[in-house]
Amino acid sequence: MSTLYSQLPAIDRLLRTPALQTLSAQYGATLLTRTLREMQQEARDLIRQQQQFPAWHADWPLEAATRLAQRSRSALRPVFNLTGTVLHTNLGRALLAEPAIAAVTQTARQAVTLEYALDEAERGHRDRALAALLCELTGAEDACIVNNNAAAVLLMLAALAPDREVVVSRGELVEIGGAFRIPDVMRQAGCRLHEVGTTNRTHLKDYRGAVNEQTALLMKVHTSNYQIQGFTKAVDEAELAALGEELGVPVISDLGSGSLIDLSQYGLPAEPMPQQLIASGVSLVSFSGDKLLGGPQAGIIVGKKALIARLQQHPLKRALRVDKLTLAALEATLQLYRQPERLCDSLPTLRLLTRDRAALLPLAERLLPPLQAKWGDAFSLAIAPCFSQIGSGSLPVDRLPSYAITFTPKAERGGGLDALAQRWRQLEVPVIGRLQEGRLWLDLRCLDDESLFLRMLTS
Ligand SMILES: *Cc1c(COP(=O)(O)O)cnc(C)c1O
Repeated sequence: MSTLYSQLPAIDRLLRTPALQTLSAQYGATLLTRTLREMQQEARDLIRQQQQFPAWHADWPLEAATRLAQRSRSALRPVFNLTGTVLHTNLGRALLAEPAIAAVTQTARQAVTLEYALDEAERGHRDRALAALLCELTGAEDACIVNNNAAAVLLMLAALAPDREVVVSRGELVEIGGAFRIPDVMRQAGCRLHEVGTTNRTHLKDYRGAVNEQTALLMKVHTSNYQIQGFTKAVDEAELAALGEELGVPVISDLGSGSLIDLSQYGLPAEPMPQQLIASGVSLVSFSGDKLLGGPQAGIIVGKKALIARLQQHPLKRALRVDKLTLAALEATLQLYRQPERLCDSLPTLRLLTRDRAALLPLAERLLPPLQAKWGDAFSLAIAPCFSQIGSGSLPVDRLPSYAITFTPKAERGGGLDALAQRWRQLEVPVIGRLQEGRLWLDLRCLDDESLFLRMLTS
């Protein structure tokens, strides 16, 4: 056993070999030495426990190179999102438009007028430049920008209804996922939830009857991720805004996704638009930056000037504010909405959502033969019509016709689907599909880099 120990290479001798000199130049001596020590320790442990060398003992430089490459890889790995869910929360939701990416890069590199007004030589307000743009696009009086829509809801409640009641329909006490539940957010914000109506039916008189001297807000929550069908009744924002006006109680709306354009013009399911709610008299509307808007993660609140001022002054705003990179990306994204006729090209989210099924078929037909050649022994491959989803809390029942390439294991060869999915997750650029009905589906809606994809799956 001691002879095994003595056959382990000495680190300082290893470091003088040309192969490790190259690694040292690339990764630095500190990191390389630490990696070699770690390997040496592992080898000693294995000799002590099993009286043998690790498998990589034959080639220390190769093992060191592999470990260093792995270690220097980003935790945020680019992947192919072929899940069929366009706005996939676990895969980072919206892809930024090129002008937004350029704006982030420029803002990261240089000093910028974040809270500095050039004309008045006084400290400007961080959201001010974007507030003007948001007002132009939504018709609101003012705007406030925070970390995400969950933060937007928290801030509205904490600033406008501390220790007071907020009236919400029982049909809208939603859970969005990731521990965002309306009743919990209320509690965190220090408000008292006053539920009205029933799960399926809430009337205007229910809201009217709930208002008392403790009431601070009437609230609507967009039930984006589920639908109640059958004997239902909900009060829309316009009706509620009129009641709020009559009783002198502000009405706020958590829109979730919210779209600044009418999606039905592209044949997509209609989503409520912030500008419509503002026009119908809602006091504050909040929505996400990285859902249908197609921008960076952010929470956007638009509405009445006096209420926005209270949000801007609240201490939580400081904790929830966004950084300059987010503001830069959001501004560049919103600028694109000034040319709505070009949005289908300029905004990746809209481009992917409106990609026509017919256009995906030639792509599928090009990909099938090389994939077949590589995987056809163990799997039967097919081009199959399927449905993509918008994702991020949009209705799962609204689905977009698409095409997938599917992989079904040939029983006699026993190639497991889980093993296949696992293997594709280990690729240099992992390919993420969807397991369903005994097949692995690669939905082609979000596939842009065809040649890189083929290189990953066929080499
Ligand atoms: C998605 C969503 C949220 C949370 O928004 P984030 O930007 O993810 O924080 C809140 N409310 C509704 C209705 C939503 O759909």
